[in-house]
Amino acid sequence: VKEQYAAGRPLSLELYREACRFLPGGDTRTATFFLPYPNFIEKGNGPYLYDVDGHKLLDFQNNYTSLIHGHGHRPTVEAVQKQISLGSAFTAPFEAQLRLARLLTERFPGLELVRFANSGTEANMHALRIARAFTGKSKIIKTEGGYHGTTDVFEASVDPNIKKAGSLDQIKVIPESRGVSANALKDVLVVPFNDIERTRTVIEENYKETACLIIEPIMGSAGQITPTKEYLTFLRDVTRQYNIVLIFDEVVTGRLSLGGAQKFYGVTPDLTTLGKIIGGGTPVGAFGGKREIMELYDPRRKKMYHSGTFNGNAVTMAAGLAAMECYDQDAVDHVNGLGRLFAEEVRNIYHRLGLNMKVSGEGSIYNILFTDKEVRNYRDVAASHEELNKLLYMLLLTKGVFNAERGMFCMSTAMEEADVRFGLQQVETALTQMLPVIE
Ligand code: PMP
Repeated sequence: VKEQYAAGRPLSLELYREACRFLPGGDTRTATFFLPYPNFIEKGNGPYLYDVDGHKLLDFQNNYTSLIHGHGHRPTVEAVQKQISLGSAFTAPFEAQLRLARLLTERFPGLELVRFANSGTEANMHALRIARAFTGKSKIIKTEGGYHGTTDVFEASVDPNIKKAGSLDQIKVIPESRGVSANALKDVLVVPFNDIERTRTVIEENYKETACLIIEPIMGSAGQITPTKEYLTFLRDVTRQYNIVLIFDEVVTGRLSLGGAQKFYGVTPDLTTLGKIIGGGTPVGAFGGKREIMELYDPRRKKMYHSGTFNGNAVTMAAGLAAMECYDQDAVDHVNGLGRLFAEEVRNIYHRLGLNMKVSGEGSIYNILFTDKEVRNYRDVAASHEELNKLLYMLLLTKGVFNAERGMFCMSTAMEEADVRFGLQQVETALTQMLPVIE
């Protein structure tokens, strides 16, 4: 199938070779690379992408879930065009920022005050810093498989080799990349997702030094692993009891309802971080939460410093505001309805093909998993077959469907039911072709 893929993409190959002369591996994001070489995209429109070799692709990737309205969303485009002609960034506050801040704080139960940054990574870095400042403690607890961006402390046990990661009640902290500071990782404790007993033990043993517990309410890059309501409620109670700041990383789950996963599951954290969809397709991050914590950033109190040349820049704020105003309850119901249809039909496909497999996720984002196990934590998914998802990805690319290599499918408001059904047909054909290699 790689040959079939490559045969149809000579212009991508040419651009890829040229790009490799100037960019290591031909791009700036590890996640965009795959073998034999990625297809270069020319443009996007609604739910579709068009590559330079003339293929039209139904986009279930949406720039890793950040494009809630697909590509070229009219109100967002107009807002950006208008704003950029009036100025893109000022070293001064700007009304669109106030309006986006108001919209987000009205929607998310855990957001009383909010600040903007340029990426989800940055938002999490600031959340961590303010949690440390507020508690006077320095350690951080995260889940195995949890992804919070590309910076030292968070790049611990994101996608570890489970053979080297120790037992579940003694998880080893493993750096995700070369160059991650071993010193920084001394501050990190790792717990299994959905595991109340183990998380309680780690907290009881370390609460005197622990500033925060950070968690994706649904673990996204680990494979859309959903939480039990009891686990989230337990985290709320235990962190309150031990004076640990509970941070929900809602960079991805922010789309699950108008008020994100916290509203959906009915559990309110102390701090929330956001990104992706709230920038309307432009670079963004946001962090916020309880007034008593966030007020440390009030310059009148001179407690904490927070800078960033493009924080809250006018273009991002205008784009984010336009996109979020259009992401109303009807839009939430639309994408979540498409998502649930997708998941249900994928289960029907498994049934028709006699496959004992799982589809994980909630709302508008799902993951196809080549496992028959119940999925509760990172290890349940790490046991599933990465190579098979890569093969599925490659097959789908040759059939006009773009998803994420790890098996993720994300809906956008630009899609209609017929689009999702087209995608499902291709998934069924691809899985049928794969039957001989699926055990
Ligand atoms: N948190 C989560 C849950 C994410 O999925 C991501 C990005 N995929 C980030 C944080 C980091 O966001 P960014 O890539 O904007 O730095």
